[in-house]
Amino acid sequence: MQINIQRQRKTLPVYKLRKKLLREIRNHDSLIIIGETGSGKTTQIPQFLLSKEFIGESGCIGITQPRRLAAVSVAHRVAQEQGVQLGKLVGYCVRFDDKTSPQTQIKFLTDGMMVREAMTDEILSDYSVIILDEAHERSVQTDVLFGVAKRAQNLRKLKGLTPLKLLIMSATMDVDKFAKYFQAPVVYLEGRQHPVEVQQSIQTHEDYVMAALATAFQIHRKAPPNEDILVFLTGQEEIENAVQLAEEAARQLDGKGYPNLRVFPLYSALQTHLQLEAFKSSPQGMRKLVLSTNVAETSVTIEGICHIIDTGVAKVRTYHPTTGSEVLKVEKITKAQAWQRTGRAGRERPGKCYRIYTKSEFKQMKEMPIPEIQRCSLTGVALNLLAIGVDITTFDFMDKPSKESVDVAVTCLERLGAVKGSPPQLTTLGRTMSLFPLDPRFTKALLASVEHGCLEEALTVIALLSGESVFTEPYTKRDQAYAAKARFASNEGDHVTLLNVYRGYINAAHKKAWCHENFLHHRNLEYALNVRDQLARVAKCANLEKSSCGTNTEPLRKSLLEGLADNIAELQRDRTYVTLGARYPVAIHPSSTLHASKPPLVLFTEVVNTGKCYIRGLSVIEPCWLNAKISSTG
Ligand code: ADP
Ligand code: MG
Repeated sequence: MQINIQRQRKTLPVYKLRKKLLREIRNHDSLIIIGETGSGKTTQIPQFLLSKEFIGESGCIGITQPRRLAAVSVAHRVAQEQGVQLGKLVGYCVRFDDKTSPQTQIKFLTDGMMVREAMTDEILSDYSVIILDEAHERSVQTDVLFGVAKRAQNLRKLKGLTPLKLLIMSATMDVDKFAKYFQAPVVYLEGRQHPVEVQQSIQTHEDYVMAALATAFQIHRKAPPNEDILVFLTGQEEIENAVQLAEEAARQLDGKGYPNLRVFPLYSALQTHLQLEAFKSSPQGMRKLVLSTNVAETSVTIEGICHIIDTGVAKVRTYHPTTGSEVLKVEKITKAQAWQRTGRAGRERPGKCYRIYTKSEFKQMKEMPIPEIQRCSLTGVALNLLAIGVDITTFDFMDKPSKESVDVAVTCLERLGAVKGSPPQLTTLGRTMSLFPLDPRFTKALLASVEHGCLEEALTVIALLSGESVFTEPYTKRDQAYAAKARFASNEGDHVTLLNVYRGYINAAHKKAWCHENFLHHRNLEYALNVRDQLARVAKCANLEKSSCGTNTEPLRKSLLEGLADNIAELQRDRTYVTLGARYPVAIHPSSTLHASKPPLVLFTEVVNTGKCYIRGLSVIEPCWLNAKISSTG
């Protein structure tokens, strides 16, 4: 195995250019590296730099990824190539999961984690080299990190400290723009490893899930075993349902002379060890079918994948400054993303990509995604930047976010009591808030819960809101699932319902069986428990006093209100809802326990847009709580 891996490493395009690359890195403070998918950038370049020349006696190479899955899986691979145990020489650090030690010299982390590190150490002194990988993805945190890393590099220069090298890597990007922003030369690495043939649909498909599964099974019936298949879908629920359908179809083919088919889901809320299951190569004579969200779109290599099925859609988070809320929506991907998806095949041998959309649909796609910084809430970003010591209104962004959304963010932080003055300054409360890896509005709710005497309950609810839904609704057993959910339902709303689920789960003796009986997601509950532990730890570090409100949930709902005071909807005379303030029409999502009862005033967690604006994750609140708040602040 080791010998094979070492031999394979030497065949990667990046290996041949090693000398040239090292020379360029030596000669420049910042360097842009462009190389096609599979050329070996992510896994090899950090290993090339593993010498005294580049990292001194105790330096570290940090490689950032926009997604935690990429950081984790690539760290595993590089540890394997180095023949070391993960967490020692090679490690990773992502939100709620740190696998590093003082010996770690190659550290994979998410952009967000690196930004967090800058909050306590603005010059990022642990690092000799920082590699900003998948720079073209332009996630909010990548964009923030661009500026933060540049600033750290300059500060170190000014202070005469050890220089910081910055490498910016990608397969595709707007080279001129990056070169200008980083004032850095560009190196190109040639060569994809293996060709990938692209097949477009002849007709348009309304039901892309069924079309994708049909394609997968056509491939399954024809292709030799061990040619594995990767399908791009949009979200957890869709994927879990598709897994069931695929498993059922596979059972029907069982014993008919086809290779054995194993189906794996892959999405961000899945526990790490289950995510990694999808990465293992299928045993001899079998086939693997991976159903994934766009977490598998960049960076990762899933062993054995020869066939890609691209549905051409993805779930995208967008922000509406007018309603002040973020919306999750299924949207068409861009051409750049389509090519990234195609590139997931052909990493180990020639491959094929089946696009479930026509040539003309492809032509109509946008070239590149709009940078997330221009379409998301900036509240968290503004808080993080202030904690680093930077004012968001003057920050050196590659693409400036609109003034409107910057203003909304600063106003929101003012309302939460995290900042004051002009230019905005962090308050003591704001400093504490910046410790939590959460949306500032949830952090505020958490801090408010200390005052209201319900920290335990707030930790629970916020942890549950941080992951994917804990309720399952299998297509075939909808009614039973609803009946099960009704057992936890509270007429005070969905947050209290979540609390009831958690309490039931904690007390259940046989957790898996209990979840199964109650149509609950065991994995998602375990994930939430883990998040809760981490948050409780931060709360302890911040000296927050433990408290519980027991069965009276009023303090909990009041605490949530302090964080989410912009998310209130009011019942109208015609039995519809509008948001307070902006008076934007919304409807209660059918999944809410308050869907039928329609209370006069509700607090909501998020908005989902499926043609209509639905509000989800609700709590009943009392009008007098609003007045009390206004009089206490005004
Ligand atoms: P790049 O970052 O340039 O897209 P990578 O460094 O991620 O390329 O991967 C280079 C090659 O290393 C892949 O094409 C594949 O052959 C191999 N590889 C990387 N990760 C894995 C893995 N987890 N399992 C098997 N092979 C891998
Ligand atoms: Mg890569």
